[in-house]
Order: sequence, then structure tokens, then C-alpha cells
Amino acid sequence: MKRVRLFGFDLDPLRMSEAVAQLLTWSAERGGKCRYVVTPNVDHTVMYRENPQLRQAYADASLVLADGAPVLVAARLLGKPIPERVPGSDLAPAMFEAVARRLAAGNAAEMRPLNVYLLGAAPGVAERAAHNIAMRWPGVNCVGTYSPPLGFERDAAENQRILDRIAAARPDVLIVGLGAPKQELWVHAHQQQIAAPVALCIGATIDFLAGVKPRAPRWMRRLGIEWCHRLATEPRRLAKRYLRDAVLFPQLVWREWRGAI
Ligand code: UDP
Repeated sequence: MKRVRLFGFDLDPLRMSEAVAQLLTWSAERGGKCRYVVTPNVDHTVMYRENPQLRQAYADASLVLADGAPVLVAARLLGKPIPERVPGSDLAPAMFEAVARRLAAGNAAEMRPLNVYLLGAAPGVAERAAHNIAMRWPGVNCVGTYSPPLGFERDAAENQRILDRIAAARPDVLIVGLGAPKQELWVHAHQQQIAAPVALCIGATIDFLAGVKPRAPRWMRRLGIEWCHRLATEPRRLAKRYLRDAVLFPQLVWREWRGAI
């Protein structure tokens, strides 16, 4: 499907079901370099302008999926509609659901368990997420978890240890929850060495799967105002970020409108 150029990057205009189907196909293909997914929201779009490394990471991503509702609204205003949001935090659960459904349907051709590795979140959180995944989605196996220490990305030996752990676990999908832009930069820097067919750079998803951060109620997510909920639950950490984005994002939309990007 033709990509849509917006804010300087190329978005894949896929629905959630199409993205899940594509990722499950890729997750069965071993041997090549790791394909990875990024999910731009307003904050990422603002960072993208200022961070050349993030731009490089986006350029090499196999899927770029629109996470934030404002990104979708802006796309529509700019005459480049995207069919629907594919939020990073919904992507892994949707993949797990698809695997569990195939298993329940008993379709032998499609009955392949999915092995996942959870990288990121505070110590102990990924283990709780792994437990919840096992309880909720039969057919999804968590083959490893790791919470890297602070500053790990600057430590070559630690990076190698992480890559070795992943290689030993042989996951089909690596879930990377290190926050943006760290997760995108880390996966891009190690794309050739990551021994998993697919990696998802999906922020706080491990926290959500573990239940340590509450997801917004469904009605808020449907209205595209999940960010309000996140702001209410973590005001100290997120207020500055959201304020900056609220000033800069409309400027980006305006510039895009005038064809200046
Ligand atoms: N995180 C981590 N290591 C780091 C920095 C962050 O494991 O060095 C984790 C953090 O514990 C959280 C996740 O990254 O689970 C995502 O953080 P954030 O809420 O900033 O992500 P967002 O979804 O907003 O990109």
C-alpha cells in the first residue's frame, strides 16, 4: 500500500487488522534483519523535527503507524486521510488476540504459537506482564524479559548482553518499551544484530500489560483523548511534554499546510 508523506515521514495507511496480519506474517520469517515498527504520535512528530537520529530510525522502519488521534485529524485536514489509528499500546494485544483466536478456531495451517520477549519497563514489571499475557492469551509464550539498567544504551557490553539474551530466547516478536526516542534509536542501532524477525517500539505497553499503569477507559480511547487520561495519571512527568507539544504541533501542521516541510 502506498505510504502517505506527513510531517517529513512516510506513514503506512493500514488498519489495525492489516497491520496485525502483516506482522504475524513477518514474525514467521527468520533469517533476515529485524523489521521494526514505530508508531508516531504528536510527541514523536515534534521530536522527529529536532532529532536527526530519530529521522534515520524512522526511515529504516518497516511499518510507520499513526498512533495519535491529533495526527489523524491533521492528516485529514491536510487532505491525506489515514483509515484509522493504530496505537502502539493496542498493537501487541491485538496481535496476541489474533494468535489466541487462530488457536481457538483450530485452523491447523495457522496454529503457530507466538514467542515474545519483553524488553524494558522497571524491574519486575515485565515479569508481571508476562504472567498476564500467559493467563489471557493462550498460544502466546513469553520467552524472556529484561529491564535494562539506567544508561544501558551507552554501555557497549550491556548492549551486547541484551542482544545475547534475545538471541538465546529466539523470540518471534521483540516488544521494546523504553520510551521514545530511546526505543527507536536502540532498535535502529542494533537492527542487524537483533535475533528476532520483528520488533515493536511501543512505549509504555509493558506497563499497561502488567497493569501497573492504567489504560484510559475505552470511551476515551475511542474519542482519541487517551492523552488526557495519561496526563491526569502522571501530571508531573507529562505536563511539560504535552505543553511543548501543544505549542509546537499546530506550528508543524501549519507549515505542512503551507507546503514548507
Ligand atoms: N523505560 C525503560 N528504560 C529507560 C527509559 C524508559 O525501561 O531507560 C521504560 C519506562 O519504564 C516505561 C517505558 O519506558 O515503561 C515507556 O515510557 P514512556 O511513558 O515515556 O513511553 P511513551 O509511551 O510515552 O513513549
